[in-house]
Amino acid sequence: MPLLLGCIADDFTGATDLAGMLVKGGMRTVQVIGVPDGPPPAADAIVVALKIRTAPTAEAVAEAVSAFDWLREAGAGKFFWKYCSTFDSTDQGNIGPVADALAQRTGAAMVPFCPAFPANQRSVFQGHLFVGSRLLSESGMENHPLTPMQDADLVRVLGRQTGHGVGLVPYAVVAQGPDAIRDAFTRLSDQGRRYAICDAVSEQHLVDLGAACDRMPLVTGGSGMAMGLPPLFRARGALDAATAADALPDVSGPGAVVSGSCSRQTLFQIGAAAQRMAHFALDPLDSESPEAAAAAALAWAADKPMPVLIAASAPPDRVQAIQARLGREAAGQFIEAALAEIAAGLVARGVRRLVVAGGETSGAVVQRLGVRQLRIGPEIDPGVPWTHAAGDGTRPDLLLALKSGNFGGRDFFANALAMTE
Ligand code: ADP
Repeated sequence: MPLLLGCIADDFTGATDLAGMLVKGGMRTVQVIGVPDGPPPAADAIVVALKIRTAPTAEAVAEAVSAFDWLREAGAGKFFWKYCSTFDSTDQGNIGPVADALAQRTGAAMVPFCPAFPANQRSVFQGHLFVGSRLLSESGMENHPLTPMQDADLVRVLGRQTGHGVGLVPYAVVAQGPDAIRDAFTRLSDQGRRYAICDAVSEQHLVDLGAACDRMPLVTGGSGMAMGLPPLFRARGALDAATAADALPDVSGPGAVVSGSCSRQTLFQIGAAAQRMAHFALDPLDSESPEAAAAAALAWAADKPMPVLIAASAPPDRVQAIQARLGREAAGQFIEAALAEIAAGLVARGVRRLVVAGGETSGAVVQRLGVRQLRIGPEIDPGVPWTHAAGDGTRPDLLLALKSGNFGGRDFFANALAMTE
């Protein structure tokens, strides 16, 4: 299976979001965490998950280039640079500088940019990014601690991050479809502009933008922009229609849920799940160390029927009390370390299907389990797929569902496990 599309994502959950979008479009997709040392997995698309959204620019560019070189070596002929649908960046970057490096390497004469994702309320009109009905700069994102977005005019924002000329493909053109969009790209190129911010307020616009990018080596955007890419490969007959893109290898064994998310939605899901499975509430103030907390939870689980639910998740007043005693960061690190150890302990006891709630918590669990690669499977709820981590000498085959805090419906935990029984 030749690799068709090589993607570079600037953070972990953004990578999963993109990978899920490609699978829904019919591409078999593997997400790798960081740039791998070894040979590429068999897939139509590979998404390299980096953590470079707010890294120093030189570091971000170097990592993106190393991911690009690995993907090109793996055979990719088309590349996607994935950033956040709120264009999270500073005047230093890293969206522009990474694009500059990739444009140079691919030789792309024109590079489209579009963070729009209408299903998630992100749209671009006359080059301005809206979150719902508010301009980006009045959406709350103007107060982001790391990447305050105080200008919604993306032509201007990107212009400050690159030496290349930035133009606009406006709504009136995008609404006319792929041919009109291609003509607009050519006109911008003739004017000496190498980058184009593209308007999009509907999924059809994203699909048409994708079609207009059929010959471009480099496309950039949020995960919405990726919606238009699988149809290009299907039209070429490059996607195998016989196998489902979201098929995962069979893995059987007990299931379990580990949660470190304190989001309202997760607390709601825990309330629902606690009525159906044995539930252990981990409180960091009960133990001296993460290891001791993990040992206590695992001792509790020893005689419980699977699946079990082990959660540090707590409502805001309890979290505040814990943070007041331990410090905010130390409390987070204590719990992440304990939950990662618990996940490893559960796997050692035979658990093979693991649901993890919390973005940072998922990162800690994946790292503790030594997982470097996830094949993306069927969607459980919007934005959360089952994934498969192949075993190695030290770890068995696992199914992992990594849920960021606010995602998933009320019965997410039970539904997720039921899907894999
Ligand atoms: P989300 O996806 O909901 O943001 P994360 O896992 O990314 O979830 O972040 C939740 C953070 O809160 C983690 O660092 C976790 O360790 C921490 N945490 C979890 N439970 C508690 C608690 N009871 N008290 C304090 N911090 C907690």
